[in-house]
Amino acid sequence: MMQQNDRQNSIAFIALGSNLDNPLKQIKTACQEIAALPKTSLIQHSSLYKSAPIAPQEQPDYINAVAKIDTGLTPVELLNALLAIEQRHGRVRDFRNAPRTLDLDILLYGALQLNSNDLTIPHPRMIQRAFVLYPLMEIAPDCYIPGHGKINQLIAACSDQVITRLEK
Ligand code: AMP
Repeated sequence: MMQQNDRQNSIAFIALGSNLDNPLKQIKTACQEIAALPKTSLIQHSSLYKSAPIAPQEQPDYINAVAKIDTGLTPVELLNALLAIEQRHGRVRDFRNAPRTLDLDILLYGALQLNSNDLTIPHPRMIQRAFVLYPLMEIAPDCYIPGHGKINQLIAACSDQVITRLEK
């Protein structure tokens, strides 16, 4: 039987990225930590992908993935929980697009469209990033990105970006 709590839950998608300190391990550990968040279960995660840094380019390649969760956390609670995970991974906010041990972004939260000082959902840059759209397409091929459109149409505009799917 459905419990009261289930009706308040939302499906959310989180992008994971790392290019420092054993990125494969950073991403795998972060998936476990996301699965262990309160009121949250990990439904699925994508394969791991390797992508070239956008800019500046003199930094290691990134490992990327997308996780699908079912959560009773509010968007702000989820953001704070993800920031805490990033901090445990030793993330230092240095400069824009700096190398990072772990970056976690909320891509989608149900059909929510939100634009506040701290949080923009859908994530504003997700639609131009192959390293987000390819792993998202793998686990949510029919995904509609509120305000932007269907993933298969958005992904076509990113086909010039190099991204490699790694073994699962
Ligand atoms: P960065 O780690 O450089 O991507 O920036 C993280 C900051 O971006 C967070 O502290 C949030 O306040 C802000 N932010 C805005 N929208 C989002 C989102 N959808 N997911 C994660 N962080 C977001």
